[in-house]
Amino acid sequence: MNLKIITAIFAVLLLSFIQAESAELINGGFETAGASLNEALNWKLAKFCNKGHVRVRSPRKSGSWSLKLQNTSADDISCSFQKIVFNQQELKPILLTGFIRGNVKKTPNGFFGATLYVEIHLVDGTIVYWNSAPNFGSFAWREAGINLSSIYKVTGPIAYVNVIPLLMDGTGAAYFDNLVIREFEPREAAVTLMFDDGHESAFNVAKPVLDAYGLCASAAVVTGEIDKPDSMTTADLQELENDCWSISSHSETHAHLDDIPIGKARNEMINSKKTLKKKKIEAVSFAYPFGDFNGALFAECQKHYVSCRGVNAGVNPTRGLYPHDVKTRVVKNTTTLGDVWNWLSEAWEKKAWVVIVFHVIADDWDDAYHTPVSDFEEMADLVANSGLDVITYDEGVRRYSVGKP
Ligand SMILES: [Zn+2]
Repeated sequence: MNLKIITAIFAVLLLSFIQAESAELINGGFETAGASLNEALNWKLAKFCNKGHVRVRSPRKSGSWSLKLQNTSADDISCSFQKIVFNQQELKPILLTGFIRGNVKKTPNGFFGATLYVEIHLVDGTIVYWNSAPNFGSFAWREAGINLSSIYKVTGPIAYVNVIPLLMDGTGAAYFDNLVIREFEPREAAVTLMFDDGHESAFNVAKPVLDAYGLCASAAVVTGEIDKPDSMTTADLQELENDCWSISSHSETHAHLDDIPIGKARNEMINSKKTLKKKKIEAVSFAYPFGDFNGALFAECQKHYVSCRGVNAGVNPTRGLYPHDVKTRVVKNTTTLGDVWNWLSEAWEKKAWVVIVFHVIADDWDDAYHTPVSDFEEMADLVANSGLDVITYDEGVRRYSVGKP
C-alpha cells in the first residue's frame, strides 16, 4: 500500500472521528443527508447494535425527514448514535429531548422498547447508562426527555455524552425526530418537602412543625381517600392550599397505573384532578402511585398536568428541568438525619433542587414508609437551617422548567 492511500485512509478515519465528536448535537432533525440519501449526517451505527438506522420521509414530526429503526426478530437491536463533547468544569444541567413514534411489539420481559438511550461519560472516567421512559405498542408522536444532571449516578462534571436513539426488546418500527441536547447554567439550590398519599399526619403532625419555621410544603393526595379515616379532610386540604402549600394529585385509587388499561389510567389522572377542582383545589402536578410509569403513561400525563413525577432517585436541575422527569429522595423509617444532610449537601454542591418525599409521620406504622415524629422534627430543623431556599413542588416546577431564564 503506498503512502498516498494510507494518508487517504487516515484522512477518512480522522474525518469520521471529527464528525462523530461535536460540541453540540448536529442534525437532530435528520434533515441533512450523509453519504447517501437514506443516511443521516453525523449519525453513526453504535457498536452494540446489529441493525442500523435509515432516514425516511414519513412519518415525520416536522421538516422532511425522520430516523427509522426497525427490528424484525426479538434479538435485534437497532440504534444510531452521536457523540457530544461538553468537557464540563463543574456539573451543569444538560437536557435531552426528542420525539418518538412507533409500533413496537414487546418481547417477553422486554425493557427498553423505543427510547432515548444515553451513555454519559463523566470527567472522572465513570460511565453512566440511562434511558428515557420505554415506549411499546402503537403510538403517535410523543415527547421524551431526560435531564442528565438529575440522574443519581451522575455525581460530577460530564466529559461527553453518546446520544443513542434505540429500539430494543421489541419487534416493529420506531421513528425519531427533533432531538435536541442543551446545557444550562444552574441556578440557586432549593429543597421541597412533599407528603405523598394524603395521610392525616401531613396536616396534624407535619404542618405544625413546619409552621414553627414558616415553611411551606406540598402534598400529593389520593382523591378517593379524602375525608376517610386516617386521611386528610377536604377542609384540611383547603387550609393547606390557602396557607401556601401546593397540592398534587396522586390518582384516585393509588392503582399500579402500568398494570391497568391506559383508558383506566387516564381516568385516574382526569377524575382525581376534577375531584380536587370541585373542592376548589387546583392540582397542576401529578405523582404516579408507587412511582410506576412507562412511555404511554408519560405521554398521557403530559396532556393533563404541568408536571408528573415518579420516585426515581436523584436531585433536579435548577434550569432546563424536564417537568415530567422530576427526581426525588424518599424518606423511609431507616432514613437517618445524616442521609438528609447528604441530600441537602448534594443539592448545595450541584446547585440542584431536591424533592424530599415523606409518607406517614408516625412512631408506629405497618410498613417502612413512615418517619417517627422526633426524626421528622430533627429533619425539619435541618432543612430550615440549611440555608437552602425551601419551596413548594409547584414553585420548583415553575421556577426551573425548560426554557425559564
Ligand atoms: Zn403513594
